[in-house]
Amino acid sequence: MTWQIDLKGKTIVVSGGNRGIGLAISEQVAQAGAHVAIIYRKSEDAPEVAKKIGEKYGVHCEAYQADVSDQKAITDLFQKIYFDVGPIGGVVCNAGINYKKDALEYTKEDFDGHFGPNVWGVFTCAQAAARLWKQHDYRNGRIVFVSSVSGTIANRGVQQAFYNPTKAAVISLAKTLAMEWASQGTIVNVLSPGYVLTDMNASLKDDQKEREETASMTMLNRISEPSEQAGTAVFLLSDYATYITGTEVIVDGGLSSW
Ligand code: NDP
Repeated sequence: MTWQIDLKGKTIVVSGGNRGIGLAISEQVAQAGAHVAIIYRKSEDAPEVAKKIGEKYGVHCEAYQADVSDQKAITDLFQKIYFDVGPIGGVVCNAGINYKKDALEYTKEDFDGHFGPNVWGVFTCAQAAARLWKQHDYRNGRIVFVSSVSGTIANRGVQQAFYNPTKAAVISLAKTLAMEWASQGTIVNVLSPGYVLTDMNASLKDDQKEREETASMTMLNRISEPSEQAGTAVFLLSDYATYITGTEVIVDGGLSSW
C-alpha cells in the first residue's frame, strides 16, 4: 500500500494562507490535489501567490481579501467559495496576529486587537464552514485551528500577556466545537506550533544570537520551518485522521516537553 494523502475533489479554505505557516499549508494542501481558497487581510501580493500555487500544482487556488473578524464578510465569502470553487471539505483557521508589550502597558484596544482575529476570527471561519455543512448535509467536514504551545506554556523572554491567552482559548474552543458538531460529522482539531521562522518571528530571522538561544530551548536545537508544520494540518484534513477529534497536536521540536 502506498501511503499518500489525497485531497482531490475537495476545496480547503486556509485563512492567512498567503504567507508563513499558512502559505506552507496552502502549498501542501494543493500538492495533495485540493483546490485552495486563501483568506488574507492586506498583503497585496496574495493573489499572485495563489496563482503561482494553482499553476504549480494544477489546482484552483485563489486569494480572497477579508478580515476574519468580520463575521458577515466571512459568512458571505464562504458561500461564494462554496459555489464558485467547489464544496468546501475543510478549513484551516490559521490567520493570527501577535504583538508584544509589557503587560503593564496593555489596553482594552490591545485586548480586542488580539482576541478579535485570534479567537473571534477563528470562530467566524469555523462557524461559516459548519453552517454550510449543515445546510448541505455534508458529514465529513474538517476544521484545523492553528494555536500555539504558548497556549499552554508561558514562554521565556516574551511579552505576550494577551497573545498566549488567545491561543489557550482556541484550544478550548476546538474541544467545545468538536463535541458540539460531532453529531453532524464535523471533526475539529488543533495544530500547536512551537517557534517557526516566519514574519511573525522576524527577530528570529534577523538576529542569529536570538535564534540560537531560542533553538536551544527545544530538544531538536533548532527552529521549525513552516513546511514542518503544514504536514500535520494536511494529515488532520485527510482520510487518515477520521477518528481524531477535539485534540491538540503539538509540533514544537520538544520545546514544551522538558
Ligand atoms: P504571519 O505573521 O507570517 O502571517 C499571518 C497571516 O495571517 C497573514 O497571511 C495575514 O494576512 C493573516 N491575517 C492576520 N490577521 C488577519 C485578519 N484579521 N484577517 C485575515 N487574515 C489575517 O504568521 P505565522 O505564519 O507566523 O502564524 C500563523 C499562525 O500560526 C498564527 O495563528 C500564529 O499565532 C500561529 N503560530 C505561529 C508561530 C510562529 O512561531 N510563527 C508559533 C505558534 C503559532 P496578510 O498577509 O494579508 O497580513
